[in-house]
Amino acid sequence: MTTSRALADLRAHCELHLPGDDGYDAARTPWNVAVDQRPAAVAVPRTAAEVAALVRAAVAEGLRVAPQNTGHGAGALGEHTFDDVVLLRLSEFTGVTVDPVARTATVAGGTRWHEVVTAAAAHGLTAAHGSAPDVAVAGYLLGGGLSFYGRRHGVAANAIRALEVVLGDGSLVRATAQEHPDLFWAIRGGGANLGIVVSFEIDLLPYSDIFAGMLLWDRARAADVVPAWVEWSRTAPESATTSLRIMSFPPLPELPPFLSGRDLVIIDGAILEDDATAAELLTPLRALAPELDTFARIPAPGLLAVHMDPPTPTPTVADHSVLGDLDAAAVAAFLAMVGDGTTSGLMFAELRHLGGAFTRPAESGGALSHIPGEYGLFCLAVAPTPQAAVAGKAAAFAVVRALSPWSRPNLIPTFTEHRVDTGRFYDGEDWAHLCRIRDHYAPTPTLVANHPL
Ligand SMILES: Cc1cc2nc3c(=O)[nH]c(=O)nc-3n(C[C@H](O)[C@H](O)[C@H](O)COP(=O)(O)OP(=O)(O)OC[C@H]3O[C@@H](n4cnc5c(N)ncnc54)[C@H](O)[C@@H]3O)c2cc1C
Repeated sequence: MTTSRALADLRAHCELHLPGDDGYDAARTPWNVAVDQRPAAVAVPRTAAEVAALVRAAVAEGLRVAPQNTGHGAGALGEHTFDDVVLLRLSEFTGVTVDPVARTATVAGGTRWHEVVTAAAAHGLTAAHGSAPDVAVAGYLLGGGLSFYGRRHGVAANAIRALEVVLGDGSLVRATAQEHPDLFWAIRGGGANLGIVVSFEIDLLPYSDIFAGMLLWDRARAADVVPAWVEWSRTAPESATTSLRIMSFPPLPELPPFLSGRDLVIIDGAILEDDATAAELLTPLRALAPELDTFARIPAPGLLAVHMDPPTPTPTVADHSVLGDLDAAAVAAFLAMVGDGTTSGLMFAELRHLGGAFTRPAESGGALSHIPGEYGLFCLAVAPTPQAAVAGKAAAFAVVRALSPWSRPNLIPTFTEHRVDTGRFYDGEDWAHLCRIRDHYAPTPTLVANHPL
């Protein structure tokens, strides 16, 4: 049994908050504030040495350690038992160094994407970030990572060249294609089950500007726009990665009038072509006369704002699935759930275009180097109260269920906000291999990942 004295002794290793301390509630609260996680302590390390010392000390006291950066992906972690868990809040452990010649960035374990993109932009480069600027590199990359560059460049985890990892016994190892190659393969998908990444070396992308933006219609146009986008996406080149969302915004004074209190259809994303080619490609969608059209050439960091993700911590619940090809019946099923005249209870139902390089296993990739499927379906509800969370989950599950005739067995880790059969993230052989490597590097489960192996 761990004593409060033993917990307090962890203070010798880094900033620490115990239940009852003034800073405990702020430190334990994730970005997804619907998740009420109450760990035995929250540690806030600022260096790799502090992470390693904390892990050694916590494990010696019979505690387990759960790394968390921002808590954007807290939904599944929050379903674990937290009584014997030290939450490692890595959000103060940040930093980016860019090597413009090698076109790489070295990134500390708790860094967020906007920091990487800003540093890379100074050299005319960018990175395969997701839609939100304040998501951290670690959870996103170790879960695969779907970017608006992805149909051309694949799953973002494939950009990882080297990792420095604190294992569950507190030792620090470097993992590359040459050093601990089995760990290097496994952690790119297996994440915190294998170790806590304190440094990432990643390839950057050679774009200083891109053609990106959004098209917006009132939801009354959903029956025209949804089938048209699905048809368009079927033949869109791999240079185009886009998403379609049916979105509902409450009336809020802080929202711009084109969003406040409105039900909308929004298509957004990036097209890695010159302006004339990109414009030609958009012609069939622009012919649907969007109320707003922001597609244009923008500096690459502008892509972080295109999807309009919430800028502050938000209580959410969600569900998703991976879909194959969408025929007319699939489009009708989607519209029957979230089209004009329906009340879904969701903030949005999104179809993300996958296919292209997303679906191709990368030769030098890790346990999660591709997502087999043509579309990702992601449904999210805002959940300010436990009752709203129950209703929101039911609403999200209902849309996913309605599209189940078109769904594939696999799931996407970064879109998984509750506990699932973790094997569904990986190809069958890879799953067995991953578990064998886990047994070697993490024979005792001293680290707690959001999705346990
Ligand atoms: C608004 C919003 C937009 C998003 N957009 C996208 C998108 O475009 N594409 C996409 O693919 N996903 C997207 N996501 C999902 C997001 O990528 C996942 O939630 C991801 O897990 C967040 O990473 P994080 O480190 O910020 O989250 P956290 O909740 O802090 O971490 C998630 C998990 O990652 C593991 N982990 C964290 N740090 C480490 C570490 N240093 N070493 C080892 N393991 C670690 C842990 O298991 C942890 O539980 C979005 C999420 C939100 C809320």
